[in-house]
Amino acid sequence: MKYVVCVPDGCADEPVEALGGRTPLEAASLPTLAALAGRGEVGRAAVIPPGMPPGSDVGNMAILGYDPAEYHTGRAPIEAAALGLKLSPDQVAYRCNLVTLGDDGTMVDFAGGHPSSAVAEEVIDALEAELGGGGVSFHPGVEYRHILVAPAAWAESDCTPPHDLSDKPAVFPTGPASSQLRGLMDASRSVLQRFDLPATQIWLWGQGVQPEMPSFTDRWGLDAALNSAVDLVRGLGVLTGIEVLDVEGMTAGYDTDYAAQRESALDTLADGADLVLIHVEATDEAGHAGDVAAKVDALERWDRDILTDLVTGLDRLGPWRLLLLPDHATPLHLKTHTPDPVPYLLVDSVRPGPGGAYTEPAVAGVAARPGHSLMGRLLRGD
Ligand SMILES: [Zn+2]
Repeated sequence: MKYVVCVPDGCADEPVEALGGRTPLEAASLPTLAALAGRGEVGRAAVIPPGMPPGSDVGNMAILGYDPAEYHTGRAPIEAAALGLKLSPDQVAYRCNLVTLGDDGTMVDFAGGHPSSAVAEEVIDALEAELGGGGVSFHPGVEYRHILVAPAAWAESDCTPPHDLSDKPAVFPTGPASSQLRGLMDASRSVLQRFDLPATQIWLWGQGVQPEMPSFTDRWGLDAALNSAVDLVRGLGVLTGIEVLDVEGMTAGYDTDYAAQRESALDTLADGADLVLIHVEATDEAGHAGDVAAKVDALERWDRDILTDLVTGLDRLGPWRLLLLPDHATPLHLKTHTPDPVPYLLVDSVRPGPGGAYTEPAVAGVAARPGHSLMGRLLRGD
């Protein structure tokens, strides 16, 4: 038996005026998805447990079958894992953004003008030289997204994600470790001044200690792999012993090579893997941009460039089961994530299900299952 998990990030939505009151999943032309839904089981999944932040770290952890309420410690340690950092028990990881703060303390740009990774690495090296030591170290990541490792005692603080502060007055960390965090954030300003960049300082948030996640193979006795260009998803692979695939042309934008992600999944299954997860960010990106056409287009590309030939390829490999769902909703009119349950689809190539339509309204009245319970249902076939 082969298993595929398909994650169109943030694809679930709400009725959109420009689509005549339909959601993107209703409005898009998705013939293969409709055929799969017609022979499978469509339901509703609470991928974000009550009270938890509706992020891709939480939602994808649930999709991989790990209850976020039990295993999620923060998003930074997951991103740290994607960078190859292993935290010891006496360490905490913080996400370290390069941000632009206005003179009046307004969060002008949580992405610090999107510096190139190469320039950002010089900044992070300078921060390490100037402010590192005493258990504190800076680690370069991608563009404006970096990691600070600090003593575990620094974990106790309340931090605001900088993207929640866009064009608003900055809200600095509070709690027992706030003075250390604020000290570093303030001290970073003189280092950033030496660079001719829009970014003015660092912003620390998203902290957590290393999560203790049992390996996917130990749990299920199966070999799994995933392809995704997103650090959070790749980091979850590292933390659970799921092989993280590199795919030429795979990006976290609209331009990802959908067909290459599909072929990578089929090749990996043909080479012996039992399960492959395909994660594409484009639907979430379109949600954040409020770009209706881009979201519909990203869904149609899923159908045309992934699902259609994926089904043909899977049929050649033998019996298979497929699970499809997003890690959260990213409604176009809100341009941000919501914790609302999302539609899921389970398909068994041999055993037909009750059938349904894979849309939000079709499952609106259905009780939501915990998102992390679906992996077990996929693998057991119950
Ligand atoms: Zn998002």
